[in-house]
Amino acid sequence: MTSETPDTTPTPTPAPAVQPFGLRPAPSASAPRDPRPGISAVTTDELKAWLVAQGQPAYRARQVADAAWGHKATGFDDVRTLPGDLRAALDEAFRFDTMTETEVRVTDGGLTEKAIHRLSDGLVIESVLMHYPARDDARERHTLCISSQAGCAVGCPFCATGELGMERDLETAEIVDQVRHAARRLAVDGKHLTNIVFMGMGEPLLNLDRVLESIGILNDPTRFGLGARHITVSTSGVVPGIERLTALGPQFGLAISLHAARNPLRDVLVPLNRRWPVEEVVAAARAHTQATGRRVTYEATMIAGINDTDADADAMADLLRGELAHVNLIPMNQVAHTPWTGTPIPQVVRFAARLGAAGVTATIRQNRGTEIGAACGQLAAEAAGRPAPIVVQRRRERLEAQSAAALRGERSEEPAPAGVGEKAP
Ligand code: SF4
Repeated sequence: MTSETPDTTPTPTPAPAVQPFGLRPAPSASAPRDPRPGISAVTTDELKAWLVAQGQPAYRARQVADAAWGHKATGFDDVRTLPGDLRAALDEAFRFDTMTETEVRVTDGGLTEKAIHRLSDGLVIESVLMHYPARDDARERHTLCISSQAGCAVGCPFCATGELGMERDLETAEIVDQVRHAARRLAVDGKHLTNIVFMGMGEPLLNLDRVLESIGILNDPTRFGLGARHITVSTSGVVPGIERLTALGPQFGLAISLHAARNPLRDVLVPLNRRWPVEEVVAAARAHTQATGRRVTYEATMIAGINDTDADADAMADLLRGELAHVNLIPMNQVAHTPWTGTPIPQVVRFAARLGAAGVTATIRQNRGTEIGAACGQLAAEAAGRPAPIVVQRRRERLEAQSAAALRGERSEEPAPAGVGEKAP
């Protein structure tokens, strides 16, 4: 997925090489996972039962929750309203924070903060906090883009997370704790999160149970308390997952990573398309709109000479004409293993105008934090170390061959990414 972006027409900026973080590379899990549950995903009833079993009064559950969802404590030992032996027992039974290390990089003149989090087994995930100052027609916003998986099985070739491959689903607390970290940083300046988007590493609808559980926690007024309409879930097109969201009603926003309207090209750009072709995805999104009354957002990463032609714009217009939909066009961030570059802004403007002329509204958005590699998974990929040049070369040649075939209108004969079909919710 791509990070959410501001509403201004961007000036293209080259993305310099990313300097390595102090965190050491972790291409795959390097330690056993900590078996203690993260406190942020423990329900009040579970916590009360545990406290009672410890011979403690149930009201202590509120004190623990206040500390977990407050912004001051960073460990149980900071919760001085609790007796010392209880603090130690809590620490033995639960993790106050499922992130063992976090580094934050700030860019875009302070408007973008990219956090890279280390998990207990050594894997690295990312979250991106984007600040939007108040404007005449809009209040100040602080939007956090969070990850739902460590790596991703979908393997979109323009995405650095796709390059990493799939490691594992995140635990519910690992999803939620990205939010607690950002909220704590914002609280220092007396600010609070206004929006959360599941557009970071991973395909949220392939970890849907935990994504829904984390939304429940974030939405719960006794815990994080963010209104569901301020939460958006993005998918590359897991149709059964969209149907499941639809059945839940008009709770939160839905975004579709479209990237191409023609199946041969989308087979290459979003390999999940080989399992659920674009017409099925749009039909599921339409059913969602009809059931919920909510507009669906379509995201398109713009790649020069690949998916940005007039023919692509016309195909997208044909696909979305008449839908309650809005398209975000985002020039691609350069990633090491592709031969592609982002579409120049004049061509993105032309593409948007062609959509607009066909009655499909579109906004040009800028990828935040290009100089720190804020495209999804870019820093985690850096932390994992660069692939060997020969591997990059082979990937590039394969992509060139695949995209050339797609542009001739040939469908891919390759299967859907391993594990994706079977894992559909
Ligand atoms: S590879 Fe995964 S994380 Fe990257 S854009 Fe595709 S679905 Fe999103």
